[in-house]
Amino acid sequence: MGVKVEVRNLSFSFGSIKALRGVSLDAYEGQVTCLLGPNGSGKTTLLKCVMGLLSPYNGSIRVGGREVSEMDRREAARLMAYVPQIHRAVFPFSSLSVVLLGRTPWISEISGPGEEDIRRAEEVMEELGISHLAHRPYTRLSGGEMRMVLIARALVQEAPVLLMDEPTAYLDFRYQSIVMDVVRRLADSGKTVLLSLHDPNVAAAYCDRIYVLDRGTVAGVLEGSLDKGILERVYGMELAQGSVDGRTFIFPRRGASRSSHRGGS
Ligand code: ADP
Ligand code: MG
Repeated sequence: MGVKVEVRNLSFSFGSIKALRGVSLDAYEGQVTCLLGPNGSGKTTLLKCVMGLLSPYNGSIRVGGREVSEMDRREAARLMAYVPQIHRAVFPFSSLSVVLLGRTPWISEISGPGEEDIRRAEEVMEELGISHLAHRPYTRLSGGEMRMVLIARALVQEAPVLLMDEPTAYLDFRYQSIVMDVVRRLADSGKTVLLSLHDPNVAAAYCDRIYVLDRGTVAGVLEGSLDKGILERVYGMELAQGSVDGRTFIFPRRGASRSSHRGGS
């Protein structure tokens, strides 16, 4: 059975900085729900609030009907797996050990990971095309390779809700496709996926619903197709639009950042 994420009138501040101002959204089982928006618009803050990593917040965040602020860490980890945007690795664990950390909510503290956990971790690494990284120290991987290992760690957690903060950042075209295809498959199999993306075209290709964030608020909700007007407004620049294989693509015009019509604020 799937688990729904319901965010209602969520506000969160870092001191005097209002990072989220009255955000409401729903992420449903069987769907990929996307947060799209400029740097600093609140995507990471929102995902961290849902994961229970930032508190106290105002408003309500319910996952499977339970308020996130009332969950303990183990309960949250059984419901939600999280791929952070930035991850500072300290110890030179093998990549396989880092992936195995994803099994923590299911492993007894006494016995540690069993054969089944290791098999699961190896299977997911194979599916993501990163088996060759298993015995390399995580701290010495490239940014994109680290990203893939963190995604594998989240997948072995086998939580019904997957929260991913810019999962395709640093990834080459091939790994981007592998990750987004896996994400799509997981959603189709009944998981609830809530992720942030930077590329509107990737978002449109894979996601069922896109929440466009702007300065801590929802500026619009897109379903099915992109809307050049709203993206021009939130990014404060002119965009170009074209069509390939019947799909619409939106991209910045060369030099368009100089024609910014948004003004500072
Ligand atoms: P995004 O992920 O969309 O780029 P963030 O959620 O990271 O945006 O940031 C939203 C706003 O909150 C930004 O203005 C950012 O500068 C601010 N912010 C994020 N983290 C912190 C922090 N730890 N302390 C103070 N301000 C922060
Ligand atoms: Mg971010």
